[in-house]
Amino acid sequence: MSQQTQTTTFEVEKIRKDFPILSRKVNGYPLVYFDNAATAQTPIQVIDVIVDYYSNYNANIHRGVHSLSQEATDKYEQARLKIQKHFNAEKSHEIIFTSGTTHGINLVANGFSALLKEGDEILVSAMEHHSNIVPWQMLCEKTGAKLRVIPMDEKGELIYSEFESLISEKTKLVFLNHVSNALGTVNPIKKIIDKAHSFGAAVLIDGAQAAPHIKADVQELDVDFYVVSAHKMFGPTGVGVLYGKEEWLEKLPPYQGGGEMIATVSFEKTTYAGLPHKFEAGTPNICGGIAFGAAIDYMNSIGFTEIAAYEHELLIYATEKLKEIEGMKIYGEASEKTAVISFNIEGLHPYDIGTLVDKMGIAVRTGHHCAQPIMDFFKIPGTVRASFAFYNTFHEIDLFIEAVKKAKMMLQ
Ligand code: PLP
Repeated sequence: MSQQTQTTTFEVEKIRKDFPILSRKVNGYPLVYFDNAATAQTPIQVIDVIVDYYSNYNANIHRGVHSLSQEATDKYEQARLKIQKHFNAEKSHEIIFTSGTTHGINLVANGFSALLKEGDEILVSAMEHHSNIVPWQMLCEKTGAKLRVIPMDEKGELIYSEFESLISEKTKLVFLNHVSNALGTVNPIKKIIDKAHSFGAAVLIDGAQAAPHIKADVQELDVDFYVVSAHKMFGPTGVGVLYGKEEWLEKLPPYQGGGEMIATVSFEKTTYAGLPHKFEAGTPNICGGIAFGAAIDYMNSIGFTEIAAYEHELLIYATEKLKEIEGMKIYGEASEKTAVISFNIEGLHPYDIGTLVDKMGIAVRTGHHCAQPIMDFFKIPGTVRASFAFYNTFHEIDLFIEAVKKAKMMLQ
């Protein structure tokens, strides 16, 4: 029996009808999809845009004089403008299409290899996804710069005083996530950006987990780089965006060479195109970019304030219900967090719980969530992670709690 406690007037049942996948069954049960932090589902409004692209105007962009090419180019550039507006970037050429967050971070890390030298330092938080660790380690190997880590506490919050003691004139770059994928912690990025700037350091924020829940205003944040993936924002996989301040994007060298990113090419010398094309070598994910624009429209049609309020209720409800289960340990209870719950049950392996609840139609993630340093901090191999989106319901949480209890009984 559902013990719904929804107090907002959020029209979840109406929204659910936009997501065809939510009416399918898995292992004979109605799908309960709680793996949104890995990849969120796609509404029909976005699927229709994808079908329309391949049915009506599939063509390469920026090159053709023919109508299809111009139509595709217009739609692609309109998507860039939508994304610019959404993140409140000052200029549309500060929006670089990428294949996703990982690509965006690698692009910036590669660019900084031309700007860093031995003795420089870069700061990373202790709660990063591997995507926001490994490219910087590679950068340090190349340049001789040193990677230093801002620690976190048992609640899964960064220790700001430690950040203050780590940052110095040697710090050239600070990079951290807006929201932790493994814990849901919302980091105090504005405070960190301001502090980093007072030392002349640039800041890259990994917004992959924040973007589905929080509308970031890059000008208000005064952030230098902000990276996201469309597939976590109800859009398709294989596309994302790097926002970069114009002055930084001008300073960084191109990441990849090829078509689209040049002004002139001869065997003696090549000159590069201006922004954003300098960073967009080769044929991009045209359909993906256009569909990403549609996903942004979709989220905005629901409203970020409404999304945050509803998801917070789901988070509180699920947390309370999970805590009633004996042996339950929840990791990361930051004072500000998105609707992500990472947990273990004493004596049980997360993988076993994930496998058994899947048999009951429930999709959760198990493992280290590409954030092994966090697992090392808590001295665990992994967790079960339930991550909610605005189309999830209190009833689904009830089903999940029952399934976890059943799994526990079967495994003990
Ligand atoms: N950063 C964070 C915080 C993430 O959660 C993820 C994906 O889970 C990534 C980066 C990598 O995103 P992508 O695989 O879309 O490049």
